[in-house]
Amino acid sequence: MSRRPLVAGNWKLNHLIGASIETASSVKGLLTAPSALDIVVCPVFTALQSVAETLQGSPIEVGGQNCYVKESGAFTGEVSPQMLLDAGCAWVIIGHSERRHIFGETDTLLNEKLKFARSAGLKVMFCIGETLEEREAGKMNDVLSRQVSKGLEGIDPGQFDGIAIAYEPVWAIGTGVTATPQQAQDAHAFVRGLLNSQLGGTIADTVRIQYGGSVKPDNAAELMRNPDVDGFLVGGAALKADSFAAIVNAAI
Ligand code: PEP
Repeated sequence: MSRRPLVAGNWKLNHLIGASIETASSVKGLLTAPSALDIVVCPVFTALQSVAETLQGSPIEVGGQNCYVKESGAFTGEVSPQMLLDAGCAWVIIGHSERRHIFGETDTLLNEKLKFARSAGLKVMFCIGETLEEREAGKMNDVLSRQVSKGLEGIDPGQFDGIAIAYEPVWAIGTGVTATPQQAQDAHAFVRGLLNSQLGGTIADTVRIQYGGSVKPDNAAELMRNPDVDGFLVGGAALKADSFAAIVNAAI
């Protein structure tokens, strides 16, 4: 089954507005065949609108890194999916391991966020992944099963055309330790199997599963050769236009 690759850069808490515009605009000029895949950059909230304006008319889309489960109201510090759309976003990342582990976001909250973001019209990259401790204790499959079953519970099947899963083993995020191509393929095939049991073959075959965790220009092509790796969610290497563009170019 051939799925259109999806490569996204998560800039996390980095880049002021000026650097965000500069990075986005340089990426545009470095892509060899941007129409062959979906490309997303996810700046900090304060830079979203400027980056969206910079990328207007280009195939690169913009995403938020998080959102809340209400459209508006007395929720100090939060941002709604509707506000992300208003700032020019087409996507949002939900369930990043930093949201789960630093900010204590639970499977239940993430499921609510996913449903609310999709119903507002945003496409979602939904992150899952085990910690090193969980992997070493042989709990990886249990963790992924729980994150998928609870995270995707009750989602309308028609919403899956706007959902990608990002498998991001926590031990590989920002550590320089990348999953081997075989480890990535095994985890992605396992997750696709979970999608198949929970949601059926059509959704399992069409949902894109991105790999995230120390992806670099020199390991992207090899990871991408795996049949169940459909693209990447890139952190550190997405902060520089040349390395992000090289990863995008390697994913086609
Ligand atoms: C991430 O934070 O989603 C990520 C994959 O980070 P890095 O590429 O730096 O490991």
